[in-house]
Amino acid sequence: MKNFLSKTAREISPYTAGEQPSDKKYVKLNTNENPYPPSPKALEAYRGFDFSSLKLYPPLQMRGLKDAIAAAEGVTSDCIFCGNGSDEILALCFPAFFDEGGKGAAFADVTYSFYPVFASFFKVPARIVPLREDFTLDLAALTAAPAQGVIVANPNAPTGIGIPLAEIEKFVAENDRIVILDEAYMAFYGQSAVQLIKKYKNLVVVKTFSKSYSLAGMRCGYAVADPSLIAGLERCRDCFNSYPVDSVCQAVCAAAIADSKYYGKCTARIVSERERVGRELAARGFTMLPSSANFVFAKHEALSGGEVYARLRDRGVLVRHFKGERISDFCRITIGSFEENNALLAAADDLLR
Ligand code: PMP
Repeated sequence: MKNFLSKTAREISPYTAGEQPSDKKYVKLNTNENPYPPSPKALEAYRGFDFSSLKLYPPLQMRGLKDAIAAAEGVTSDCIFCGNGSDEILALCFPAFFDEGGKGAAFADVTYSFYPVFASFFKVPARIVPLREDFTLDLAALTAAPAQGVIVANPNAPTGIGIPLAEIEKFVAENDRIVILDEAYMAFYGQSAVQLIKKYKNLVVVKTFSKSYSLAGMRCGYAVADPSLIAGLERCRDCFNSYPVDSVCQAVCAAAIADSKYYGKCTARIVSERERVGRELAARGFTMLPSSANFVFAKHEALSGGEVYARLRDRGVLVRHFKGERISDFCRITIGSFEENNALLAAADDLLR
């Protein structure tokens, strides 16, 4: 049969999202979602939403949402770009800041596995810089890598390791090229580089409503950068979809980000649970990388990563296992509620018996 697909559609290896199985109810600790519900203020905005307004396209300028983000981040609204999840924004960063077939984008060998997919889709050469033996990022090596720009997830995924703000500032200052910081998990670390965008015109900080704001199902993310960089993202967005953030989403996310009190409490609880789960897993023979995120990256002395994943799954607990070369011994385990974490620990006890 004749193949009607393009070369890209035939040959690209797409990103594989974490599984969302429906065969039974799992304790779902595989996609770094938040165990707590979104803010009551977000629910109020959702309930108060004027349904009949859906006959219109969403507000093009996203004033309400951008103003709320700008107020929360302490920047002006012209420094904000919003998208359909931070994945979409990270994707748009490639055509916005990297030339097809150019000097390329530099990033770590063990990091968010969407970066190489975007690079490949947009035909931007990937310049891979290996993490050190202990899985920390060698910023000097990244600075030395020949590339048009760099992408760093801070804290990194799936390792969870965070880089202190002072080191990030030195790195941004030393790189006279675009630096994209993916801060999807930053709320659990508390060292955001957002304020640096006022000083450095080469910095784009990308954040999401999916993790610390408990709104993964809404699909909203944002970038903070100098307006000259935001304009580039907007030009690229308008080549795909002028309305990536729907009206309901704009209203709900604007209300959510204003409720720092509620989310501060949820985040503190997750961080304290992360420390407890870490101690409890260590007592069961697991070793973990030091995590600054809402997950731990753990391996067991007596079992392979694939075995831990499969045996937890058999016991109704879903975690994420990556088959990559340096990381196949590990499982990435999202920090859930107190009860979910206890279910994980009970399943671990059972599988080790
Ligand atoms: N960056 C990193 C490092 C992530 O782990 C994720 C979640 N898979 C994202 C970005 C994307 O999140 P979202 O598209 O839900 O905003």
